[in-house]
Amino acid sequence: MRTDWLIVGAGFTGCTLAERIASQLGQAVVLVDRRSNVGGNAYDFYNDEGVLVHQYGPHIFHTNSTKVWEYLSRFTEWRPYSHRVLAVVEGKKIPVPFNLNSLAAVMPERYAAKLENLLLEKFGIGAKVPILKLREVTHDDLRFLADYIYDNVFYGYTVKQWECRPEELDPSVTGRVPVHISRDDRYFQDTYQAMPRLGYSELFRRQLDHPNIQVLLDTDYRRILSDLKFSRMIFTGPINTFFDDLHGPLPYRSIRFEFSTLDVEQYQEAGTVNYPNDYEFTRVTEQKYLSGQTMPKTILVKEFPQRHVEGETEPYYPIPRPENRETYSRYLQEAEKLNGSVLFAGRLADYKCYNMDQAVGRALRVFEEVATGSSAERRLRYATASR
Ligand SMILES: Cc1cc2nc3c(=O)[nH]c(=O)nc-3n(C[C@H](O)[C@H](O)[C@H](O)COP(=O)(O)OP(=O)(O)OC[C@H]3O[C@@H](n4cnc5c(N)ncnc54)[C@H](O)[C@@H]3O)c2cc1C
Repeated sequence: MRTDWLIVGAGFTGCTLAERIASQLGQAVVLVDRRSNVGGNAYDFYNDEGVLVHQYGPHIFHTNSTKVWEYLSRFTEWRPYSHRVLAVVEGKKIPVPFNLNSLAAVMPERYAAKLENLLLEKFGIGAKVPILKLREVTHDDLRFLADYIYDNVFYGYTVKQWECRPEELDPSVTGRVPVHISRDDRYFQDTYQAMPRLGYSELFRRQLDHPNIQVLLDTDYRRILSDLKFSRMIFTGPINTFFDDLHGPLPYRSIRFEFSTLDVEQYQEAGTVNYPNDYEFTRVTEQKYLSGQTMPKTILVKEFPQRHVEGETEPYYPIPRPENRETYSRYLQEAEKLNGSVLFAGRLADYKCYNMDQAVGRALRVFEEVATGSSAERRLRYATASR
């Protein structure tokens, strides 16, 4: 069998590159995934109750990129949706990211008003302040507040999710959910926030509906290497596995998802409720909030973070710590040495916690480089496909 491109991994990165190459360059693509579904972690399906379920954890779409939004809008209609998250703190459910409404919920009224004024004076309305930055304040009351938020909202959640303290991670991790000096309870403030009206899997089906694209599922790419002739390859799996852990494994966090069906129309007050301080799971998401479905039953998913063990669990989250970045950069050098026709892109191949829109944005940029054949293409880590 012969093709122009072998693309490994049918997540957002692989599907977007397959679609672009097939439709814009008229070249043939074999897209292979070892899972039995396309869509990577964003795969969803309608279960026996008719509820749209995200098999690999809740995925909420949000982006500030008009380019990504317009690109994906070719393959889906959207349902406007602003995600809301609550966290259980001292028995109360308070908005996350922690904001002025959360402050009012956890502090006595007059003290909350004082703290609010101090926050507004120091940072201004609308500011987003990473918790580790907020802890650098010297004012006693603000420092008290920073410690309160750190202890009650961040610490336990981070230890469960990452098995380390917030300071041990790259600041970008805790910075993703900053303290928000605002009364806006939405989890994201991006320009575009919506869910694919018929689900992500339908979006992927439309993306891949092209005669130049052949999809092989339940297939590790290594199994077909001897039977498939291809000119170029794109690899979106874990970069360390491509090089057989030559420089040691790159660690990932995994998650065990526990689904349950309840005989009630609605279970909780928001799409997601975080449990930073109790239980082994981090959060509970009620899937119907995301799909907007109305029906008598509801589906919950609890997330139990765990270590990733190659061959046993799924590698979900690259762990952004300096020593892992160092290991990753060694793999990058291996990729550059190959200097041929394998290109690495995506959350696992780039070892970066991309959101879906970032994965699509990255894929679109890679495609532009491929299409123009610019010199920058070489910088994007081509390597020979002769492995
Ligand atoms: C629990 C969880 C929740 C998330 N929630 C959100 C959210 O709310 N909003 C958001 O924007 N983003 C979210 N994300 C991030 C989102 O999942 C990623 O941005 C997106 O999936 C990245 O796409 P990708 O194609 O790069 O990688 P993936 O989706 O991981 O796809 C890579 C694919 O490669 C395949 N593969 C790997 N090795 C091989 C091999 N040897 N042979 C064949 N196939 C192989 C894998 O099976 C996988 O399907 C979440 C991620 C997780 C884990």
